[in-house]
Amino acid sequence: MSLYRDTGVVLRVQKLGEADRIITLITRNHGKVRAVAKGVRRTTSRLGARVEPFAHVDVQFYTGRTLDVITQVQTIDAFGAGIVGDYQRYTSACAVLETADRMSAEEGEPVLRLYLLVGGALRALADGTRDPSLVLDAFLLRALAFAGWSPALSECARCGDPGPHRAFSIQAGGSVCPRCKPPGSASPTHEVLTLMAALADGTWAVAERATDAARREASGLVAALLQWHLERQLRSLPLVERRRP
Ligand SMILES: [Zn+2]
Repeated sequence: MSLYRDTGVVLRVQKLGEADRIITLITRNHGKVRAVAKGVRRTTSRLGARVEPFAHVDVQFYTGRTLDVITQVQTIDAFGAGIVGDYQRYTSACAVLETADRMSAEEGEPVLRLYLLVGGALRALADGTRDPSLVLDAFLLRALAFAGWSPALSECARCGDPGPHRAFSIQAGGSVCPRCKPPGSASPTHEVLTLMAALADGTWAVAERATDAARREASGLVAALLQWHLERQLRSLPLVERRRP
């Protein structure tokens, strides 16, 4: 029996048989891991309460023939406590988990950067000090960067001509100059692009000055970029409540 240990965030929990669950985690060192937690649906299971979605945990696994098995769990951060009671935080956090699940498709592939982004976003949502909608969009832009899909926010995505440019094309990968602009491009204001750049590099003082209109437009572009790259919409994203808390 081979044992290993890692820290991870619980992305998803599925029923397995009468008493067990399959837990999907994004881990620091082992990428995405799907593992069985045995007996956790019994009300007396202490392990079960620790492997709920949003939990940041330290886990010991043993390598099984098909799925690995969780043998010990310690809670590092119970992010769920600050998230599940608030609809806006909850829906934003669900979109974070679903994005992480989709972007870490290959199990075992290292995803350290994405793991750190997930932890940071859940911590900010649970703390409640920042607008959940901005936290989510910052996470999504950084997750796009992790996947190599950062949108061009100033230079032209096609020819590299230094911007800022007025047109923005999801298919072309962001800002586009007048010569490269495909038909049907959007025309976000300069403020929208400034907000997206601030969210991507974590300049919160700039991001938090953005108007509601700019926030809405930036959210729309981020959602469209994500959908384009993931090739289908996230189930959780249309449910996210977008209002200033
Ligand atoms: Zn161009």
